[in-house]
Amino acid sequence: MKIIIIGGSAAGMGAAAKLKRNTPDAEVVVYQKSSYVSLGACGLPYVIDGKVENEKDLLSRSIAEFEKSGIQVFTNIEITKVDFDNKIVYANGVKDKYDKLIIATGARPIVPSIPGVDGEGVYSLTTLEDGVEVRDKIAKNNSIKSVAIIGGGFIGVETSVSLINMNKKVNLIEMQDTLLSKSFDQDMIHHIEDELKINGVQVYTSTQVSEILLNDKKVCGVKFSNGKSIEVEAVILSIGFQPNTSFLKETKIKLMDNGAILVNTKCETNIKDVYSGGDCSSSKNYITGKDIYSPLATVASKMAKVIADNISNKNINYVGSIQSAMIKLFSKESARTGLTELQAKAEGIDYQTVLINDKNYPSYLKGQTDISLKLIMNKKSRELIGAQIIGSDNSILRINGIVSLIWAKTKVDSALEQIDMPYAPPFSRTQDILHIALSKLNK
Ligand SMILES: Cc1cc2nc3c(=O)[nH]c(=O)nc-3n(C[C@H](O)[C@H](O)[C@H](O)COP(=O)(O)OP(=O)(O)OC[C@H]3O[C@@H](n4cnc5c(N)ncnc54)[C@H](O)[C@@H]3O)c2cc1C
Repeated sequence: MKIIIIGGSAAGMGAAAKLKRNTPDAEVVVYQKSSYVSLGACGLPYVIDGKVENEKDLLSRSIAEFEKSGIQVFTNIEITKVDFDNKIVYANGVKDKYDKLIIATGARPIVPSIPGVDGEGVYSLTTLEDGVEVRDKIAKNNSIKSVAIIGGGFIGVETSVSLINMNKKVNLIEMQDTLLSKSFDQDMIHHIEDELKINGVQVYTSTQVSEILLNDKKVCGVKFSNGKSIEVEAVILSIGFQPNTSFLKETKIKLMDNGAILVNTKCETNIKDVYSGGDCSSSKNYITGKDIYSPLATVASKMAKVIADNISNKNINYVGSIQSAMIKLFSKESARTGLTELQAKAEGIDYQTVLINDKNYPSYLKGQTDISLKLIMNKKSRELIGAQIIGSDNSILRINGIVSLIWAKTKVDSALEQIDMPYAPPFSRTQDILHIALSKLNK
């Protein structure tokens, strides 16, 4: 059996490695557009401020290592056409026939169609080359004093921190009323926004960029739709991702509205013997069961395994994700999982929330810090469906326990109120913030 994989990162190489472990005699061939495979893109913001000293360390496995395990890797090849009827992939100078095909082409940054976007000094942060460019042409370039980051999602806020660490003036511009609006509710996000502001990030919310201003083709500012403008010498675009599926547009493969390949729980597309996963495909919401687009490494790596197992006839389902995510900004750490209150409302769920502000451990110990926890519970089933936590010194790792409760569909009742979590002064209080929140929900 010959399996062709288009795209060689978390989803593609994850599937390749598992396939070879499952079925050592399978012929596994990867076509990858870039010159490297297995990029840990999550580390890119840390390349900018030097926390990752050598960008090549973000490549988790070398091509030679994959080839040693019998996987054929062809780099610098972009597949431009797939003939699903005859099971052939095409690239410049390449025509190759498959028995099974895995499409794992990931996503690219959305580029807004505003004047000036093609100017010199406009960057994004997705590839290894992007990380090196932003580090060398912005972070380490003393002539760049002020930068605009357009888009206040996870990548935008992480990049703000890295550039502040490199002594840049950072203007973080977000169209929505709050930063990270898809991930945190308004009553939690102010902790994060305050932390950014205290550390020097100029945060603009409810602000849309209408033009990137150029002087002699080089960035010299950005203009807002309210007519105001600010001076900057560089721009970083981080307004979201678009699946890399344009080469499939004229085919009969089913796509979501944003271009993501629609897959079922087996990660199969609507075309026989064609699978997809990761940032180029749909995935499932574990709570609502709906098809969603969730471009996260945690999702891509799990879908990769499901694809490989199904090709190896193991009959596995991808059950979905609850978009668990965390972020560290200066000394503030934040984590979220499940549905936000806004999302629960949009789903028509009858829900109840509780928000507790407390301390991470007892006051008699030096270094006590603030911690805030919001829980969202389905009133009818009494199951937890979402949580957001903000604190410091790893106190947010409580989220892992809460993820388990949501995953196991545990009901909030008097037994759960007594959940026996470990306690010692350097970590928590005997009556921890989670006990307090559960007790309030159970009233
Ligand atoms: C800056 C940044 C920070 C992130 N931080 C986090 C984090 O903290 N936590 C988290 O869970 N996720 C994070 N992510 C998301 C995570 O990196 C992605 O979800 C993950 O990389 C998806 O893997 P993938 O294999 O589906 O796609 P990709 O990593 O995009 O890989 C797809 C590959 O396919 C190649 N390709 C595309 N088209 C073709 C073609 N036609 N022919 C051949 N090859 C092709 C591309 O060159 C690319 O190498 C972050 C992403 C970025 C950019």
